[in-house]
Amino acid sequence: VTRVETAEADVLVIGGGAAGVWAALKAQEEGARVTMIVKGVLGKSGCSIFASHLPWYDETTEEKKKARLTYAIRYYNHYLTDQHYVIRLGQFVRERFFGELERLGVYWRRDDAGNIVVSKSLVPVCVAHKQGSSGLVIMERLRQEVLRRGIPVMEETCATGLLVEDGTCRGAVAVRLRDGAAVVVTSKAVVLATGHADYLSLRSTGTREQSADGISMAMRAGCELVNMEICWFHATDVSYPRAWMRLHVYPNPLVGTEETSRMYNSAGEVFFEQKRDAPGSSAPYVQQMRRLALQVERGLARWDGGYYSGYTHIDPEVLRAYQHQIGVWNKLGLDVTRDLLECAITWHMRQGGIHLDTRTMMAVGVEGLYVAGGLGGHYLGGLGPATYDGWVAGTMAAEYARRAKKAGATQIGEGELAKREIMRVTGLLQKVGTERPYWPALVKREIRRVMWEEMGFVKSETSIRRASERLGRIRQEMVPRMGLRYLGDRWNFEWVEALDVLSMLDACEATVCGALERKESRGPFYRSDFPYVDNENWLVKLIQDWREGRPSFRKEYYETPFLKPEREREGYFDADY
Ligand SMILES: Cc1cc2nc3c(=O)[nH]c(=O)nc-3n(C[C@H](O)[C@H](O)[C@H](O)COP(=O)(O)OP(=O)(O)OC[C@H]3O[C@@H](n4cnc5c(N)ncnc54)[C@H](O)[C@@H]3O)c2cc1C
Repeated sequence: VTRVETAEADVLVIGGGAAGVWAALKAQEEGARVTMIVKGVLGKSGCSIFASHLPWYDETTEEKKKARLTYAIRYYNHYLTDQHYVIRLGQFVRERFFGELERLGVYWRRDDAGNIVVSKSLVPVCVAHKQGSSGLVIMERLRQEVLRRGIPVMEETCATGLLVEDGTCRGAVAVRLRDGAAVVVTSKAVVLATGHADYLSLRSTGTREQSADGISMAMRAGCELVNMEICWFHATDVSYPRAWMRLHVYPNPLVGTEETSRMYNSAGEVFFEQKRDAPGSSAPYVQQMRRLALQVERGLARWDGGYYSGYTHIDPEVLRAYQHQIGVWNKLGLDVTRDLLECAITWHMRQGGIHLDTRTMMAVGVEGLYVAGGLGGHYLGGLGPATYDGWVAGTMAAEYARRAKKAGATQIGEGELAKREIMRVTGLLQKVGTERPYWPALVKREIRRVMWEEMGFVKSETSIRRASERLGRIRQEMVPRMGLRYLGDRWNFEWVEALDVLSMLDACEATVCGALERKESRGPFYRSDFPYVDNENWLVKLIQDWREGRPSFRKEYYETPFLKPEREREGYFDADY
């Protein structure tokens, strides 16, 4: 490192997706001096930009209220969520979310009478302003708002470690890609919002900069993790070209029509359609995966292709009016009204994550550290939930900072902790010269290969143990021989990739350990050696604590005050959640 820079803030926000932006905006409104660190570009990195549509929280009748709760608790989180949080979230989205964004200039698609256009489904969705473009539109407005308010943002700057002393978080260390400077930001409180769609498998909806850094930082800082094994998959992302693997043929309710997309096997038979097969779920990915597994078993689809999806049965005018995604067909020289797209599965968002208190968003066990959005282990995610989390975390962090200031909290500054983190990070930059070095990009690919081959949709003790052994070999044999070709400090992406390797290994190991421990199947988590949902024993937060360098586990049962599963135990392929 050529130099170390220091900065100071009341509240440091790490991450520039919906959760991070809202945390920063709310903390500033509460009077805190805020600084943001974003590994990619603010409002243009992470998965917030991919949001296609937003659930429209219509709870005007008891029936609609029940449908929304059932969707959120049963289909979206498989009962692994705090139901009181779900109620608070619903109220926030209904009363604040749409209005606030509209005030910032987001255009919710409206009809000629001025009403917001929603899908005609059990749990309706709305769009800004087409299905597939909502995240882009919203995040651009939020980016502009942060810049307009003059909040300092360090873009293309990668946070690497949290400064936690005596169980209290007081800042973070980061590497600025532009010039390789190590930046030590000391703060009274930190909001960690690095997202949940990480690029940990060969096919993933996670983008380049998403390497589970937040999970790794939290593990090293002494936070607990929950339900790390519950990872979602997308079933209808395009198989080709590879760089487009996170583009989606939406299986969700479509605006402007009562029809929904269809999935076809290689024999041309329809095997899934949301309106027919999962009418209560606006995000029917788990059901898609179950149906796809049966086609793979019949030899009529593969996980990496050989099955199709499309909108050929839908009125072309409706597609043109409401579907941003038809651009995919156009760019491939195909016709959305006639052609289907070949699909493949991708690893998607993590339902689990960091253990937190859903009232304050503070991480369990680490004072002054708030967690917002997909990174939390409390709820699957979504633009509305990420916004709510950021809103609460930013407000609470500002309040915490105010109290810490009053109490005269000591700064960690460039103390021992920061020095140790800088040494760890720069150690990777210097590590060259072994006889046959492994380039970081190659090690990353190997980690992804292990996760794709051993931790796909169908898992068993044998494959999970194989994943564990293979990851262990990568850590013991490849990591010590990792070397960089370029040692310069300007835009040294290879250096960041070496850091990514360490984060990815931490997160993958926690995922594998959780998968071995959870002895049932649920939601997207399918173990062929435990092919049933077991609500008697596993309707729990599976909590991991890594403070001793290896996981110790405990279980906490979820309360079910508003919605309970009907059966204590049912076959995985019979269940619909
Ligand atoms: C393909 C896809 C489709 C989706 N569709 C929908 C939808 O239709 N509707 C819906 O409601 N939701 C949808 N979601 C989910 C929704 O987008 C997410 O749940 C939500 O946006 C998460 O926001 P976030 O701020 O927590 O994380 P992200 O948006 O992922 O932001 C993470 C941020 O952290 C930064 N970061 C990462 N590591 C570091 C580091 N080390 N240092 C500093 N910064 C770091 C990244 O650069 C990024 O800015 C979709 C997600 C995907 C992937």
